[in-house]
Amino acid sequence: MRDALYGWDRIRPVAAVIAVAAAYFLVGKLGLKLAFVHTSVTAVWPPTGLALAVLLIWGTRLWPGVFLGAFLVNITTEGSVLTTLGIATGNTLEGVVGAWLVTRFANGRNCMNEVRNVFGFVFLAALASTAISASVGVFSLMAGGFTAWDNMGSIWFTWWVGDAVGAVLVTPWLLAWHANPHLRWRWRRIPEVILLLLTLVLFGLDIFGPDTYHHPLQIGSYPLTFLAAPILLWAVFRFGPRTATTATLLLSAIALRGTLQDAGPFATVAPNEALLLVQSFMGVIAVTILVVAATQQQLEQYRRRLEAANAELTAASVTDALTGAYNRRGFDQRLNEELERAARYRQPLSLLLLDIDLFKQHNDAFGHPAGDEVLKTVVRLLQAHVRATDAVARQGGDEFAILLPNTDSKGAFVMAERFREAIESAIWPGQSVTITLGAATLPVESDQGEKLLAQADEALYAAKEAGRNRVVHAQWPSVRAHDNSDDESASPHNVAVIGKPSRRQA
Ligand code: GH3
Ligand code: MG
Repeated sequence: MRDALYGWDRIRPVAAVIAVAAAYFLVGKLGLKLAFVHTSVTAVWPPTGLALAVLLIWGTRLWPGVFLGAFLVNITTEGSVLTTLGIATGNTLEGVVGAWLVTRFANGRNCMNEVRNVFGFVFLAALASTAISASVGVFSLMAGGFTAWDNMGSIWFTWWVGDAVGAVLVTPWLLAWHANPHLRWRWRRIPEVILLLLTLVLFGLDIFGPDTYHHPLQIGSYPLTFLAAPILLWAVFRFGPRTATTATLLLSAIALRGTLQDAGPFATVAPNEALLLVQSFMGVIAVTILVVAATQQQLEQYRRRLEAANAELTAASVTDALTGAYNRRGFDQRLNEELERAARYRQPLSLLLLDIDLFKQHNDAFGHPAGDEVLKTVVRLLQAHVRATDAVARQGGDEFAILLPNTDSKGAFVMAERFREAIESAIWPGQSVTITLGAATLPVESDQGEKLLAQADEALYAAKEAGRNRVVHAQWPSVRAHDNSDDESASPHNVAVIGKPSRRQA
């Protein structure tokens, strides 16, 4: 097994190189079918785009595949071994230099995600590196005596433009499909994508197709090439870069085939000029659509970032920075929601207000930072003991509120006791910490929210008065303290009952 894996690891690079060579060869043969100026010089050279995509995605170390593919496709076309070696070298250099430049300066295989990098790709790969292939290739043809020197200018130019168009048409298409290879359209989008492709093909054939084609729209006698814009924009905005590049490629193929067959609005001039026109058409629509697609993606990305930042801000605005509990504002929001819910479903609602006992002393003894740790731990303990529907909030200082939906006064008491005990029995690094709780439960008569808060507050005050580390419920004002029998104030008779001035008013 280990040996087999080891063997596969050795074979894999070779297999990759052979696969690239085979793909290059096949796409090259397809490109040569479009040959126009010279058997070795084509109107569009799609292998340029293939090589760039492959080297961008899997790295320039796959260059031998490009070289092999380019050699094979050319040697089986025309020319001597030496000339073909020259052409293949040019093709390989073009791919390697282009991929290196785009990786170095334009975000590599993700170059289509940003407008800046789209232009980087166009200038560095499609326009600059293709000049290498054209120069080396044309020189090889001349040196081998396969074409006259006085044709050099026009052959160089066609070669260069053919490679450039191959790059802007094929590389983005392959990069888009590589980045998002799965066909996972929602069902209701399928009719639209079919409609899009049908529109594209119908208009394309009508405008560019030779007379032998069926022309159902009968608009072929008008120079309607600009109709490409709305159709391709439809592809970009409704389906994104993958569909848009596919549509661009499809329309380009239709336009090129038609023009080479002497049909369509570009074929009204001399063949060489017609070729240049259709090349420009393909190049311009391809780059324009890439720029629009990148703009759209960037906008979408900004929108998503903005949404995330907004959600973060919203969360922060209702959260207490120190403890992570709700802050006052978050508590008010939750209180209003729960009041509404309680009224709607006729459920009880309880509120606990709690305050750490003698916290000032704790701060004085151990310092403010240690006090902060106590606050955090208290919240952590409270949160560990609440239910998912409950809400813990820091009201300020060492005072907290816990909202208990669908909890009656008895339940509130039980919960309050549970919290009190949890804090008391926790292990604290400094001196032990206790809390005092005041509880109140709906329904109360009028302006419920205010009343609930006021009652809980009074209960808390009463509990503090009664000696701390205990619970007082507003509707049930008997003191339930921890069992400190030596504490005189634990007796119910000492409880300040509701009606005493609230600390808030004091
Ligand atoms: P009582 O039992 O009556 O509540 O006594 P207490 O000392 O806790 O008194 P009180 O609740 O009125 O005082 C709250 C103290 O909490 C005052 C302040 O020193 C401290 N405090 C308020 N906010 C913070 C904070 O963010 N961090 C720390 N470490 N201490 C705080
Ligand atoms: Mg306190």
